[in-house]
Amino acid sequence: MADNVDDANKLADLQLQVAMAGRERPVIRPFMGCCYWCRDPVAAPKVFCDADCRDDFERDAALKGRVKR
Ligand SMILES: [Zn+2]
Repeated sequence: MADNVDDANKLADLQLQVAMAGRERPVIRPFMGCCYWCRDPVAAPKVFCDADCRDDFERDAALKGRVKR
């Protein structure tokens, strides 16, 4: 039984990795001195202050991309 749980976890990990790898990468954004999401100042070459801002921005961009006509 324990083996099945282990396999399920491995499968979930694999699916996550595939999802991350297959995630559409947005174009490289030029450095503009502040976070693209919250507008806080960031040091080059970063364009987001942290992963949370990047994720929020990309989620928002993905949503906008979906409703674009
Ligand atoms: Zn930010």
